[in-house]
Amino acid sequence: MTITSASTSTSTDSLLIDGRQLIGREWVPSATGRTIDVINPANRELLARIPRSDAADVDAAVEAAEQAFPAWRDTNASVRASIIFRWADLIEQNADELDQLESQEVGRPSWGPSRLPAQLRFIAGQVDKVQGVSLPTYSPDTIGFTLREPYGVVGAIIPWNAPGAMFLNEVGAAIAAGNTIVIKPAEDAPLTPLALAKLALDAGVPAGVINVVTGYGSEAGAAIPAHPRIRRIGFTGSPATGSLIMEACARNLTPLHLELGGKSPQVVFADADLDAAVPAMVAGITLNTGQICAAGSRVVVMRSIHAELVDRLAAEMQKVTVGPWHQPVTMGPLINEKQYDRVLNYIELGKQGGADVVTGGGVPQGDLYGNGFFVQPTLFDNVSPDMRIAQEEIFGPVLSVIAVDTEEEAIAVANGTDYGLVASVWTQDVGIAVRMSRALNAGQVGVNNAIGAGVIGGPFGGYKNSGFGRTMGADSVLNWTQVKTVSMRSATLPQF
Ligand code: NAP
Ligand code: MG
Repeated sequence: MTITSASTSTSTDSLLIDGRQLIGREWVPSATGRTIDVINPANRELLARIPRSDAADVDAAVEAAEQAFPAWRDTNASVRASIIFRWADLIEQNADELDQLESQEVGRPSWGPSRLPAQLRFIAGQVDKVQGVSLPTYSPDTIGFTLREPYGVVGAIIPWNAPGAMFLNEVGAAIAAGNTIVIKPAEDAPLTPLALAKLALDAGVPAGVINVVTGYGSEAGAAIPAHPRIRRIGFTGSPATGSLIMEACARNLTPLHLELGGKSPQVVFADADLDAAVPAMVAGITLNTGQICAAGSRVVVMRSIHAELVDRLAAEMQKVTVGPWHQPVTMGPLINEKQYDRVLNYIELGKQGGADVVTGGGVPQGDLYGNGFFVQPTLFDNVSPDMRIAQEEIFGPVLSVIAVDTEEEAIAVANGTDYGLVASVWTQDVGIAVRMSRALNAGQVGVNNAIGAGVIGGPFGGYKNSGFGRTMGADSVLNWTQVKTVSMRSATLPQF
């Protein structure tokens, strides 16, 4: 199927997989033959159809993954590494097409040079460094050591907001450790994951090592943690779904990690360099139309600079250009109607709750916006910490400003939600930077940095309801292994 919705310079035809999913070596429809439409969120036109799978398809994928497991586990680590490096090379060679595919399904403008190859190479570099330790023993006739072994068949479920990066995070690390995997991408953005799986086969990843089953969360998704022969799970998505996944895992005693949402504070002190802070904060909440788990959605600012900061944030937000991803714009639409209703509902809640709309607050008008799920970047001032727009993850381009008087109050407000994913501090005072880095309850703290960008190999994950477990770091491959202690005793006592 050719994508008709936009005049673009790059063709995604070679990577677009229509109506099929990957189970073992076969690209197959769902067992029932049912499909789901994938649409372009900028205009609601059809991009492709994907199989609407259920437990039977997941079961077939588990079978394929089980068959592939022994040989993949026993492939020497250097060879496994070189296959994954080759996959990264193919991703690099196809970077423009992949970026375009992801733009179409997510509805975002291009993110520029792709980081996916570097992300996968970081993982590939760990494959031959999965090591155990030697253990002291009670007597010289015994030696002891640990082995790091894969779990076997593992499962993952990922969201739609950054499907390429999410797919590589889970699949890359899991197969690097020698597991084979069944992964379900989100129904809204499955095309980039399918394309990445195709490139994996081209790179020499053996059939059955990666299985991509598409479908709805409640059908194909729910079948993954419910499957008794899937031995470990990685989930990225909302806290509500995370809870369901954990319940299902509890029934099967399956270990898991959860990467959930955030309500990340941006704490701005009076001495902050606003020339740096303001553009970064606006970019942080409008990138991907605010649909980023790490988005800094609450500005907690010292009252002495409150008015100036609000003026400058509003001016910067008004520079954001909104439109279809293939136009020269900085912000696209939201992903789907549900998100559109959700974000507009939160904007209404903010108004009703007594917060002041400084800029935005509705939907943009004009031919450009047609049928798409477009909303305006929106700045709320005079938000109180207990308002729903200050507590709940909106997952849209909505920024709330809360003024505070002291560092203690700033810490209390910043930490005063159920979430704990990311927190940023804007200051030039190293004392404040040190104290805040320790005081903030978040898995990632950025000082003069909006989303923790610029770090390679930083472990990523949440405190509190933002989840547990860490991906992306040097332990990300080890997390997909289990430890075996071996003690080995000589049949005869050594002679000295
Ligand atoms: P979601 O509804 O939880 O969906 C995430 C994934 O789970 C999708 O693939 C979804 O499938 C699937 N799913 C839904 N119900 C399921 C069930 N009962 N059993 C198994 N799987 C099920 O989240 P979302 O609204 O799409 O994504 C946004 C959320 O993800 C936000 O809260 C965001 O903060 C979070 N997120 C976190 C990170 C992080 O690293 N911490 C990164 C990105 C996003 P379908 O959608 O196809 O039905
Ligand atoms: Mg879509």
